Amino acid sequence: MPSLDEYARAKLSSLEQRQLRRTLVETDRQDGAIAYRDGRRMVSFSCNDYLNMSHHPDVVRAATEATARYGVGSGASRLITGNHPLFRELEGRLARLKGAEDACVFGSGYLANLGIIPTLMGPEDLILADEWSHSCILAGGAISKARQFVFRHNDVDHVEELLAEHRAAHPRALIVTDGVFSMDGDMAPVPALADVADKYDAWLMTDDAHGVGVIGGGRGSTHATGAQGRVPLQMGTLSKAIGGYGGYLCAAEPVIDLMRTRSRTFIYSTGLPPAAAAAAIAAIDVIERDPEYVALPMAKAGLFAELVGLPAPESCIVPIVLGDPARTLAASKMLEDEGYIVTAIRPPTVPDGTARLRFTFTAGHEDSDVRRLAEIVLDRVLA
Ligand SMILES: *Cc1c(COP(=O)(O)O)cnc(C)c1O
Repeated sequence: MPSLDEYARAKLSSLEQRQLRRTLVETDRQDGAIAYRDGRRMVSFSCNDYLNMSHHPDVVRAATEATARYGVGSGASRLITGNHPLFRELEGRLARLKGAEDACVFGSGYLANLGIIPTLMGPEDLILADEWSHSCILAGGAISKARQFVFRHNDVDHVEELLAEHRAAHPRALIVTDGVFSMDGDMAPVPALADVADKYDAWLMTDDAHGVGVIGGGRGSTHATGAQGRVPLQMGTLSKAIGGYGGYLCAAEPVIDLMRTRSRTFIYSTGLPPAAAAAAIAAIDVIERDPEYVALPMAKAGLFAELVGLPAPESCIVPIVLGDPARTLAASKMLEDEGYIVTAIRPPTVPDGTARLRFTFTAGHEDSDVRRLAEIVLDRVLA
């Protein structure tokens, strides 16, 4: 057996040869999608802070006041140390925003999926997940030990085929998908999935990490696709458009009560800092009172797509697939030299052969930057 260090070094150098090694780049994020690297001012098109809530004055104030009043940590799991009233308020606000009876907040979106899915599904059950689902959906399915199949991306006929073949052998079935796909920016066919879920008596769960705050008037993919009332499990994160940190599930009261009493990532993980709850409440206030602001990221994404000749985007994520990791890294480096942060997305985050530049648009981007970026992309990436 190699030593631990030798093992790690060999693994890293093999990844490096395939252009798949990842490194952290020191970056100081500021308001309005501005970021400093090595003292250089850059504009970031690689940030999920779609509404710039991380720097919104109301949100920062709410977090600062909550920290001053309640301290930085929450002390223990909410079941052990007691539930901070801010959590109760936040859960009520999330439920209202998503049109659900109740909500349950988790430590992060990743932890939410690791907690929700195994609470509902066990070894005798059936899970069907879109092949492009986020890593934590598939991980939640694996932890549940249910029989898990992936269906071809957004292919409702394939879902139906799998249900026709396997549904009868399992007491419960769950269809789960990203509402907005994180690396492609397209939306799931939510109403059609709800139809097939009804037909085969399956539950439907959507992960709306990239939907809430930006589409459907800020209410996410269920609303954007006209599927209100048809998605019994609406999961999401507080870490993207909501600007801070945390994850959640919106569902009917008994489902949420079951999460609070059985979900392991809820029970055995410390509650979010009070500041995270206060910040999320303030961000939801902004989302609910300012629809024009909420519409901005989609408008910027639409402008960029139009300028580079892509179809109108369904979210504020616009990918340009280049295929080869080395070519993608070179394009990303060229854009960085021009002052734009556009991270290269490589396998295994995306399938082999589909390395890409992934552009995300936020309320804080200036149209002039979007236009200049599109020009450079047209001249030097797509030419
Ligand atoms: C980012 C993301 C998550 C994880 O959420 P965090 O709060 O960052 O842990 C889950 N699902 C999808 C689709 C995501 O894009």
